[in-house]
Amino acid sequence: MIDPEVFALGFDDYLARVAELTDDVLIPAEAEMVAAGSVPDHVLRALAHHGLFAVSIPRRLGGLEWSMTQQVRLTMEFTRASCVYRSRFSTVIGLCSQAILDHGTDEQREGLLPKMAAGEHVTAFALTEPDAGSDAASLTTTARRVYGGWVIDGRKRYITNGHWADDLVVFARTGEAADGAAGVSAFFVPRVSEGVTTWLPERMNGHAEAPVAEIELTGVRVDDSALLGGSVGTGFAAALRGINHARLHVAATCVGQATRMLEETTRHLLGRRQFGAPLADLGAVQADLGGCFADLEAGRALTLAAAEAFDSGRIPRHRIAAAKLFCSEMAGRVADRCVQLLGGEGIVGDNPVPRMWRDVRALRIYEGSSPVHERNLGRAVARHVGMDGTLPDTYRVTRGPAAGA
Ligand SMILES: Cc1cc2nc3c(=O)[nH]c(=O)nc-3n(C[C@H](O)[C@H](O)[C@H](O)COP(=O)(O)OP(=O)(O)OC[C@H]3O[C@@H](n4cnc5c(N)ncnc54)[C@H](O)[C@@H]3O)c2cc1C
Repeated sequence: MIDPEVFALGFDDYLARVAELTDDVLIPAEAEMVAAGSVPDHVLRALAHHGLFAVSIPRRLGGLEWSMTQQVRLTMEFTRASCVYRSRFSTVIGLCSQAILDHGTDEQREGLLPKMAAGEHVTAFALTEPDAGSDAASLTTTARRVYGGWVIDGRKRYITNGHWADDLVVFARTGEAADGAAGVSAFFVPRVSEGVTTWLPERMNGHAEAPVAEIELTGVRVDDSALLGGSVGTGFAAALRGINHARLHVAATCVGQATRMLEETTRHLLGRRQFGAPLADLGAVQADLGGCFADLEAGRALTLAAAEAFDSGRIPRHRIAAAKLFCSEMAGRVADRCVQLLGGEGIVGDNPVPRMWRDVRALRIYEGSSPVHERNLGRAVARHVGMDGTLPDTYRVTRGPAAGA
């Protein structure tokens, strides 16, 4: 349950509370999380208590309704702590809630969003399949019409929170394969349903404490009310609504992670003496730190600019893709330089930077891998030869009527 006091806070006071939570609870609990191999329950309760499941959900539906710029600033703050914590609520605040908000029926919005905001109902976003990753529109999970409902069959993989979510938002083909994205619909499937099996991979290389699920759906029966928005063929548009939101959160996460890695590394360099002085006094080391800082600031500015464009009312998907691409690559560059600057401590022992180095690697793969973003942006650029820098605005996705209402 969200602390009722949170609803009375203005944004700056809320941001300060989230910073306090990050410094006093999230960062200190990282060692416990790593030792346990999962996010401790008391941390999940603290996240819900502070309203972190609610940041993107309207107030009338029990959320905090911060603007995208505010969501991004909050994310930059709480992802100074392990980005694994964010995984536990990312599918609620980004992927699923936004798809429901803009594409769900009133009944679905009112039935689900208040309990999602409270952290009492976790949803997972089940799009990726073994044979449909970057090319998600080629998915082959099917939903077959039967009297009063649907029967779903298929296989999903790499699904964040899929092993413990209350509801899986399953993207399935209701049309022909040749229909591509237009033949995809979305369904709410309670995880505890006959015919649903979930399991975890044996090993995660990064994000180890929030493993992704494999999901098998065999003859899973859902009734008509399970169809998102009550209409077929709109599933992919709903997925993109969630994905565009989540991509900007990922860009902000990269900024938060790079900030922490740079802080941890600088602290080490100030204390570690070689050649008779702190390593931080060496010109080459300073150049590395300066390069990281400039990279980080560029990522921060790009993300905030994309968020401000989002808040102007429409979704600038190319600007979001550019921010996600740049920031995830930036976090990788900063992580690599920081590990180098830590020397042996970057490989041996408990320093958090090498753990974050592994974690941020995944951010260049999910929510669209870097080469796919490069390709998509390149295609858009090629279609707009002679553009004057307005490319993102010429490729906007309109938000649904419920957004920001
Ligand atoms: C930690 C984690 C969490 C995830 N959470 C979710 C989730 O909650 N829900 C969900 O549905 N999915 C989730 N995913 C899946 C994620 O979205 C996919 O991994 C991603 O879309 C890439 O698909 P793939 O892994 O099948 O790689 P592939 O599609 O096999 O691509 C592999 C590589 O090939 C290259 N490539 C592919 N296509 C192109 C192209 N057109 N142009 C240039 N290069 C290309 C890229 O380098 C790419 O990284 C998650 C993945 C991870 C790792």
